[in-house]
Order: sequence, then structure tokens, then C-alpha cells
Amino acid sequence: MSADLEEFAELIDNSQSIVIFTGAGISTESGIPDFRSPGGLWEKNRPIDFSEFLQSEEARRESWRRKFAMEPVLSKAKPNKGHMAISSLYERGKISAVITQNIDGLHQASGIRDEDVIEVHGNTTYAKCLDCGARMELAEVEEIFSKAETLPTCGKCEGIVKTATISFGQSMPVEEMRRASTAARSCDLLLAIGSSLVVYPAADIPLMAKQGGAELVILNREATPLDAYADLVLNREIGETLASVTKL
Ligand code: NAD
Ligand code: ZN
Repeated sequence: MSADLEEFAELIDNSQSIVIFTGAGISTESGIPDFRSPGGLWEKNRPIDFSEFLQSEEARRESWRRKFAMEPVLSKAKPNKGHMAISSLYERGKISAVITQNIDGLHQASGIRDEDVIEVHGNTTYAKCLDCGARMELAEVEEIFSKAETLPTCGKCEGIVKTATISFGQSMPVEEMRRASTAARSCDLLLAIGSSLVVYPAADIPLMAKQGGAELVILNREATPLDAYADLVLNREIGETLASVTKL
């Protein structure tokens, strides 16, 4: 094993309370494109920000069109080697929390219990009323939308319905951010995996771990703005790297 991987494996071995922080990069090997890589979602579509979504019916329609166009890919996606390596560490009792910017639910599908996954950017596998928070299933939204692109409204309060994700310009979920910062500040090792670490405030989470005295490992095929703070930077592919250090 090369020296950087040995160092990585040793850091994991010596830790009792690891926090995993993941971005879109961990799910690319499951066939879900990330935002910023070549061929990623931003090359195809500029994200619709929250104020546009609120103000414009056409933006809401476009947002649902994109959502249902992505649905065949998302609903078929399965956890990959990287997710499974993390769940094997979790089974061994090494992991105190998985904080994710992803909205695809693949950590839960790999066996991490719901209560141990902290989704700071929400979840795209269901929808919610923006006014009262009532949950609405995608199948119901799709049925409504399939009739001349009718926009869904809340059955309880007639509020605007949106996927349960956090868009650019939308405020971060308070409870999840509180849990994420508590977990990050009290871990002994934080692994930041497949995140470009440029979207704040989520990119603060690895720094909170450092401030709390933890070691920080960044695993990404390219450089990130937080590399200078890391104890170890691995510019490698996620799946094979995690599989090799967890001996899957
Ligand atoms: P990002 O697209 O900004 O960054 C992904 C990073 O992962 C890049 O730096 C890229 O170099 C790296 N990467 C991709 N595949 C890799 C691989 N196989 N091995 C090593 N590195 C790899 O993603 P982000 O930082 O998570 O921020 C984008 C936002 O978009 C997130 O907040 C998230 O909510 C949302 N998003 C989520 C999904 C998902 O749920 N799967 C997909 C796209 C976007
Ligand atoms: Zn409502």
C-alpha cells in the first residue's frame, strides 16, 4: 500500500469517533452527476435559486420538469463501493455521524440508520409545503404535474410545494446544522469526501472539526480551498480508495 493510504488507514484505526462529511462526489460512481465536474449538472442547467422559485411559476414548472427528468436516474441509483466502505466502518462502531450535502438518500440505503445521517441540504426523494411543512409524496406531485404541468399546492394550507431540498438562497435547516456542528466539534477525525468545499455554510463543518481538535482528511480527485487545513489530502478516486483502506 502506498504511504498516503497507509497513513489514512492508520488515522482511521486510531480513531473512535469519526464524522463523515460527504458531497456529490461520493455518488458519481452511482451514476448521479455532481455539480462542478466536467459533464456535471451545471454544464447543463444553471441552478434555479430559491427567490426565483418563489416568484415565478415558470421557474417552478422548470424545476419540476428537471426533477422528473432526473427521476429515472435517481430512483435506480444504488450505493457504490464508497458508500459501502463507510457503512462497514459504521458497523464496526467507528462512526458517530454521517453529515451529507447529498440529497439522494444513498447513505441510508447503504445501511446507515436515519438518525445517524444529517442531511444539511435536505432530501429530493419527497416534497414539502414551504408554508406548513406538510409532506407530499413525489408520485402525487407527478400525477398533478402530468396534467398540463399543473403546479402542486399543499392539501392543508394551499402553500407552494417544493422538493424537500435546500436551494441556493434558501435558509439552511436549523436543527440539522446544529446537529452537524455538535457532531463535528466532538469527533476525533473528520473525513471530507467528494465535496468541492466551496458551498457555505456547509463547508465550515470540516473547520469546526479542526477547531474541536480533530484531525481532518480530505479525499477528492482535485484540490479544494480547505486543503491547507487538512492533516492529509488524498487526490484519489473515492470508491477504490475507501474500499482499500477499509479492506472491503
Ligand atoms: P460538487 O459537485 O461541488 O463537488 C463534487 C466534488 O467531488 C468535486 O470537487 C469533484 O472533484 C469530486 N469528485 C467527483 N467524483 C469523484 C470521484 N469519483 N472521486 C474523487 N472525487 C470526485 O458537490 P458538492 O460539494 O456536494 O456541492 C454541490 C451541491 O449540489 C451539494 O450541496 C448537493 O446538495 C447538491 N448535489 C447533490 C447530489 C447528490 O445528492 N448526489 C448531486 C449533485 C448535486
Ligand atoms: Zn401547507
